[in-house]
Amino acid sequence: GLTAETKRTVAGRFAGLRLGSGRPMIIAGPCSVESEEQIVAAARAVKAAGATALRGGAFKPRTSPRSFQGLGEEGLRLLAVARAETGLPVVTEVMDTAQIDLVAEYADVLQVGSRNMQNFALLKQVGRAGKPVLLKRGLSATLEEWLAAAEYILESGNDQVILCERGIRTFETSTRNTLDLSTAILARTRSGLPVIVDPSHAAGRRDLIEPLSLAALAAGMDGLMIEVHPDPDRALSDAAQQLNFEQFSRLMARLELLPASA
Ligand code: PEP
Ligand code: MN
Repeated sequence: GLTAETKRTVAGRFAGLRLGSGRPMIIAGPCSVESEEQIVAAARAVKAAGATALRGGAFKPRTSPRSFQGLGEEGLRLLAVARAETGLPVVTEVMDTAQIDLVAEYADVLQVGSRNMQNFALLKQVGRAGKPVLLKRGLSATLEEWLAAAEYILESGNDQVILCERGIRTFETSTRNTLDLSTAILARTRSGLPVIVDPSHAAGRRDLIEPLSLAALAAGMDGLMIEVHPDPDRALSDAAQQLNFEQFSRLMARLELLPASA
């Protein structure tokens, strides 16, 4: 068997994600892809601030059917344009087995969202697309349930799995979810897989992104996923938690990840 560290390194080398290199993976970008101008501007800004991958939802899992559902395939195409402009690998969500081949044509990493962590049909098939899979923890999933979900992907013959803690449901209402760093740490030790933290969806408010990011990296997490938008207050989804470019750049400086030239 592989040692935990080896597994993390192997997972990262694949697709040039640079995990295990000693430098955290920073996946940044808007909640949703909204236009070419928006995603290309975001990609340029997060790259300049030191991000290592671009995020952006094209197929969005929205609580209400009346909320913006994402641009679909057009959003995927725009993500590919942003990648071509910046060289950043693209992470985007796949919500359904029927979308796997399409999303895999454009994405470098396939994201399985919180609401789909126990979509077993999706878990069985998503690993077969030949791309790394980023598996978010379910809204109310235990450590055991999260790791069991990851095993579905590993068992399909894909060892390129990245786990992402994004906050869980608790009684607390002052934050959108509660960041569960304890379980993220345990998930990393237990699985030997890289584990990243998403403070944006955990907190649901931008004033907590910096302290939660500092805490996650201090705890040895392998990276972060941060929502960044050119004009957060006008975002079509998750307006309250997205950082603008200047705020993201300041965050990267506080994390000591800002490139020397920026
Ligand atoms: C996302 O990252 O776009 C997202 C919808 O997050 P989650 O699945 O964690 O809610
Ligand atoms: Mn979001």
